[in-house]
Amino acid sequence: MSATVLVVEDEPQIQELVAVNLEHAGHRVLRAASAEAADAAIRAELPDVVVLDWMLPGESGVAFARRLRGDPRTRDLPILMLTARAMEQDKVAGLEAGADDYLTKPFSPKELNARIKAVLRRRSPQLSDEAVEVKGLRLDPAARRVVAGDRRLELSPSEFRLLHFFMTHPGRIYTRAQLLDHVWGDHVFIEERTVDVHIRRLRKALEPSGHDRLIDTVRGAGYGLRAD
Ligand code: CA
Repeated sequence: MSATVLVVEDEPQIQELVAVNLEHAGHRVLRAASAEAADAAIRAELPDVVVLDWMLPGESGVAFARRLRGDPRTRDLPILMLTARAMEQDKVAGLEAGADDYLTKPFSPKELNARIKAVLRRRSPQLSDEAVEVKGLRLDPAARRVVAGDRRLELSPSEFRLLHFFMTHPGRIYTRAQLLDHVWGDHVFIEERTVDVHIRRLRKALEPSGHDRLIDTVRGAGYGLRAD
């Protein structure tokens, strides 16, 4: 499972330690030393998970977590809080602010990786390597293969990611901006029309087995995968 992780930590050694560990685990790491810098990073690219220090210069990690939860774009963004405090009441405050999990310094790299993995498995199933199947359509991320019965369907990497996202979130409609964020990690530098092009290609790739009918278009709202 490889993800884009934003590490928000003001202490350079800890930031380095966390970033290097996550990179070794196969993740892509973005870094910020304050909530303000993290804001700018998230505006440019929505990460898959945020590792957030509690004590930051300026806005605290807890206040920042609360703000992320209040914004529709980042409401579902997984947050793992880091802190030197070990008191129970602080854990409660962190979780109440919207953190998914909590890690007390000092922590082992192994523990950090395990917690990241658990948070992602829960909140971002499209990053998992587990095969998914919907109505006879089977997508295997590890083998990068899509099959319908004994027929293999040919998809480009973008259409593959888009289909993987839809298949792990059936029955929900996503706007073009949301799809750009979740599938491409970017809602700023890619035009929304690009999504329409990829949807068209995805439908075409699914046509041979008739699974193009699974892709749902809701006019004025967006796209999704039919669950019924
Ligand atoms: Ca700190």
